[in-house]
Amino acid sequence: MLVASAALARRAPAAMAVVLAVAALQAINAKAEPRLPELTLPIDCHLGIDCFVQQMPDIDPDPTAMDPLCGEATYDGHDGWDFRVRSMLDVARGVPVIGIADGRILRIRDGVADRIVLDGEEAEGLQGKECGNGVVMEHEGGLTSQYCHLKMGSIAVRPGMFVPRGTRLGFIGSSGLAQFPHVHLGVRHNGREIEPLTGRELTDASGCRRPNAGLFTKTIQRLLERPQHAILAAGLTDAPPTLPGFVAGKAPLARAGGTSTLAWVWAINLQEGDRFRIRIVHPDGSQLIDQTTDPLPRRKANYLAYAGSRRDLVAGTYRVEIDLLRAGVPATSMKMSVEADG
Ligand SMILES: [Zn+2]
Repeated sequence: MLVASAALARRAPAAMAVVLAVAALQAINAKAEPRLPELTLPIDCHLGIDCFVQQMPDIDPDPTAMDPLCGEATYDGHDGWDFRVRSMLDVARGVPVIGIADGRILRIRDGVADRIVLDGEEAEGLQGKECGNGVVMEHEGGLTSQYCHLKMGSIAVRPGMFVPRGTRLGFIGSSGLAQFPHVHLGVRHNGREIEPLTGRELTDASGCRRPNAGLFTKTIQRLLERPQHAILAAGLTDAPPTLPGFVAGKAPLARAGGTSTLAWVWAINLQEGDRFRIRIVHPDGSQLIDQTTDPLPRRKANYLAYAGSRRDLVAGTYRVEIDLLRAGVPATSMKMSVEADG
């Protein structure tokens, strides 16, 4: 009896010790993981108007690719968000890349040329410099952010500086491994890559379409959850245009004198089955064309469509109207007057 009560007496403090240990652990955890800051966009622009989401992270650990909204606006192994501008003309103009939260500058790199890299040989020459000119920032709660492909010579911060959210880090560029001018945003938590829209580890595919724990502000979250198709530009010309020229900033001009009249449309993040309705109204008021393109056989990240007539391109004001048709209804449209110069 005496033995048993001694055992009980010993057990009670032991149980108390466990409770205290758990409380202490919780305190340590609370200390080690303070609240993460809310994030905003890494680019100072109007999303969907003068800058666009071109690619999201790939959250699928397998060789297939899936974006955080369970779609395909990504490619295998892509580990960040790509916010693009239209062309190198925007790089020349200077679009600020900005910090997504208050933080301290950890590292920078500058001195990598701005180029559009389309072939494998050029890509090989960039090994180890894929990010191009970049900035790494450290934020509250063990969060870091990385910004890639900035314009050469534009980096406006130095390691050790503490800068508030929205501070200009540099300008958007196309340095490193970039097929178009953009900023690639990568986010890490305690050194591990995470997907900021879902708030989960980067390759946690179970987070797809469940961005409730996301790190972005509610406003930004809503912007990023929208479908990311967009018409970047449209216009009129007299000969079939090609896509690489558009990114370089050389969209064709409407010059009177050609023997055909074409309307073109440049769009991103198109889906299988999407079509374009392309209309041109002649300066004399007649409808020159009203054509609908064939449905796309598969998703297109970046696409150029055109349609036209063999009628001469004459001096005067044309009207061009473009609808992107998704499931038969306009998902987005662009209407414009185009002055053809004689
Ligand atoms: Zn990227």
